[in-house]
Amino acid sequence: MVHNGLMVIDMHTHSNISDGTDTPAQLVSAAAASGIAVVALCDHDTMDGVAAAQAAGADTGVTVVRGIEMSTQLGDDTVHLLAYGCDPGNEALAQALADVREGRQQRVPRMVAALRAAGVPITVEDVMAQAASCSTLGRPHVADALVALGVVSDRREAFDVWLNHGRPGYVGHLRIDLDRGTSLVHQAGGVCVLAHAWGRGTRSVLTPGVIAWLAEDAGLDGLEVDHNDHLRQERTMLRALAAANDLIVTGGSDYHGTGKVNHALGCHSTSQRSYQAIMALIAERGGCP
Ligand code: AMP
Ligand code: ZN
Ligand code: FE
Ligand code: FE
Repeated sequence: MVHNGLMVIDMHTHSNISDGTDTPAQLVSAAAASGIAVVALCDHDTMDGVAAAQAAGADTGVTVVRGIEMSTQLGDDTVHLLAYGCDPGNEALAQALADVREGRQQRVPRMVAALRAAGVPITVEDVMAQAASCSTLGRPHVADALVALGVVSDRREAFDVWLNHGRPGYVGHLRIDLDRGTSLVHQAGGVCVLAHAWGRGTRSVLTPGVIAWLAEDAGLDGLEVDHNDHLRQERTMLRALAAANDLIVTGGSDYHGTGKVNHALGCHSTSQRSYQAIMALIAERGGCP
């Protein structure tokens, strides 16, 4: 995909190693078919899909960037942190991610119990049947089990009725403190970008003051501006905030295969200049693209 003669660089996608529906290889093939030049695989709390995606990239001419979407917390709120180019051999980061995945696993029986208490006859096995391929379990797998049981018709309805914060099946899980997340990413040679900073209720949390603090004192490198959860005006304001705080501006589709509507591969993208700035930082820090 080429817009105005520019390369399309999609810095935010998910495979079925977390809660997307394409295998890493299928995702990369789909990117190649759409003419996308660069795609970052950012599965939740894992890099387990990256090797397969990069192998598929070598076959199809798509550059695959090693990414993670980390589940972090600021106060009580969940903040998603995109990390690029982290060394998979870095033990502190690997252990922190393993802890989060373990917490996500422990959450499943609690969600099942909460749903059963609300009258939904779901079992842990029903959820696990939807998660055969993955390293990271999430609410979308519970949603898929609810669809398979005929309780709801799609993931969106599952979230709206049962799984969103405040609904009967909602259970939180272990997250890393946001500033510990940024520090782990730096120690692993990576680059960290706040994902959809003003999407889904985090606008009141990630205020301009907090973003300035993150940039100055917590090592934040960039801001994902172009994302479906942001309105046009919000993008304009976030772009200005990025400029004021010397943060790299990125964009990405947050593609989840058939798991999320209106998030087609390449629907949002990152400029070549920002992409090069990220890759240069990874090289400078000794990371692993
Ligand atoms: P978790 O990290 O396990 O708490 O689940 C959050 C994931 O659910 C995120 O990756 C979202 O992409 C996904 N998600 C949240 N709301 C919806 C929705 N309405 N439809 C589909 N996926 C959703
Ligand atoms: Zn997801
Ligand atoms: Fe996210
Ligand atoms: Fe995402």
